[in-house]
Amino acid sequence: MTLMSKSAALFAAATVAGAAAAGGSAQAPVPAGYDAVFPPGTPNPYNKFFTGQSYLQPIIREGVPAFNVTFEPGCRNFWHIHNAKKGGGQILLAVAGRGWYQEEGKPARELKKGDAVYIAPGVKHWHGAARDSWFTHIALEVPAEGGSTTWCEPVSDEEYGRLP
Ligand code: MN
Repeated sequence: MTLMSKSAALFAAATVAGAAAAGGSAQAPVPAGYDAVFPPGTPNPYNKFFTGQSYLQPIIREGVPAFNVTFEPGCRNFWHIHNAKKGGGQILLAVAGRGWYQEEGKPARELKKGDAVYIAPGVKHWHGAARDSWFTHIALEVPAEGGSTTWCEPVSDEEYGRLP
């Protein structure tokens, strides 16, 4: 415990609570042969901001915090904004499956293993899986002063349903 920061301890507690609320702490049921480098993770404590099931696996908390996020087919997060007074934003590294990234007012960008995305602070966006594929990205929190996330409306079935 002495090596664990207060925020890490709180995050770990939130993860356990989220897993318990979702009915267990089992790893995501990804398909056989799904190679996403890191463990897929357990039910995401932030799933109330997602459509469908996502799974979270913290990778490292020091320096640039990194989290492995796995989305079941059709799962995506709500529109959201990473806020910061200085620095900040988010980097996504796609490591398995097929997914999408979209900024408000722009076409969705397909993501596959090896793709990287920089999301500037203040930009409204969402990310998630394709309808027919699991998807995993590593999310890097770019260090920020005054960092926070604003969660907005879900990506509607109508707009998501237009994507191949
Ligand atoms: Mn984001």
